[in-house]
Amino acid sequence: MVKRSHPSHLSWLVAANDPASDFPLTHLPYGVFEIDGQSHLCVAIGTHLLDLYACAEANLLSPNIATACQAPVLNLLMALGPRSWTLLRETLTTLLHADAEPSRRLAVEAALHSIAGATLLKPVHIPNYTDFYSSIHHATRVGRIFRPDQPLLPNYKHIPIGYHGRASSILPSGIPVQRPHGQTRPPSHELGPGFGPTAALDYELELALYIGQPNPLGTPIPVTKAANHIFGLSLLNDWSTRDVQSWEYQPLGPFLAKSFATSISPWVTPLAVLEPFRAPAARRRHGDPKPLPYLYSAADQAHGNLNIKLEVSISTKTMRDNKLDPLVLSETNAKDLYWTPAQLIAHHTSNGCNLQIGDILATGTISGSTEAAAGCLLELTRNGAQPLKLPTGEVRAFLADGDEVIFRGTCELPGHPRIGLGECRAAILPARP
Ligand code: MN
Repeated sequence: MVKRSHPSHLSWLVAANDPASDFPLTHLPYGVFEIDGQSHLCVAIGTHLLDLYACAEANLLSPNIATACQAPVLNLLMALGPRSWTLLRETLTTLLHADAEPSRRLAVEAALHSIAGATLLKPVHIPNYTDFYSSIHHATRVGRIFRPDQPLLPNYKHIPIGYHGRASSILPSGIPVQRPHGQTRPPSHELGPGFGPTAALDYELELALYIGQPNPLGTPIPVTKAANHIFGLSLLNDWSTRDVQSWEYQPLGPFLAKSFATSISPWVTPLAVLEPFRAPAARRRHGDPKPLPYLYSAADQAHGNLNIKLEVSISTKTMRDNKLDPLVLSETNAKDLYWTPAQLIAHHTSNGCNLQIGDILATGTISGSTEAAAGCLLELTRNGAQPLKLPTGEVRAFLADGDEVIFRGTCELPGHPRIGLGECRAAILPARP
């Protein structure tokens, strides 16, 4: 095992010092796991999770933080605000640091569990979920499929486009998704529309921003303050049925094509962890409009985006039966998003709409400038017209029953331990009979 170069990043838990680990000491993402039929908050460290409920019981945390850490979801901790979030991270970093006091180390060791053997749950009570459309590359390529003469609608470069998602059907990673039924477009003018299992089930590679601080109804969040309202982020799969979507989306946008299921990864990476991995807002092309003042801040333009490498893999049943590794379908990066997280929050609240603790704002499908950097099959297969050929000889226009889709995200920068967002994965179950 190679030691990380910077000693201040080292933990007495040696697995956390492995440069390939998603969860070094500098990361400590939050999650919730099941133990003795109860839900306990935890942080990931190396190959293990640290039970924060047990840390509170062992008097390792300050009293008000200890109370929040004994709740079954992260919302109470979110409500304590950024100063408490920083304090808790400092406390946990000290406890897990290579120089930790030996007496406290024993108490911490008693609260460690292997991640491999743990059941990770939905970490947040999510009151509301909004999905945006922040990737101009996604918007352009999808637009080109349906409107070759006008791929990008005239509003795109002025206003962050979004729709209201469905919070009740958000699932933790690992829970299978059943192929939904839906109403689809008639194949010809003489026939009426049909109803049945979707034939065009797709994934959408996205990031979820968790709102940690609310705003009162009627009080917009300025773009300059927006980052203070973000607790952290996760991977998100906005499952979509393209045949249903293309029939229902006009004039009010996506509805049942999206609301049947959304998967989230189990670990919530605190926004503070991502400071070293900030990136400038995507460069607007010559002639593009400058964002309106309520969406513009020089600081946000300078470092409002996040440099997070993302990848999508697929594992079919045939691949698993033949012991083949999942196949990477595409790679992309969140730094290419046209709208920054702060702009999404400023826009969402610009009419006075109140965000609540635990709300998810998702970025929308994250695609890059090249056609290979596509965050969904709709783009990769040109709406099914150019199916993918897999190493097993199988072809995929859209997802088949038994397919498992796996998202990963990583941040890498010289001088900083690499961090990984973990995985967001789910398999497709056949439609109900
Ligand atoms: Mn989406």
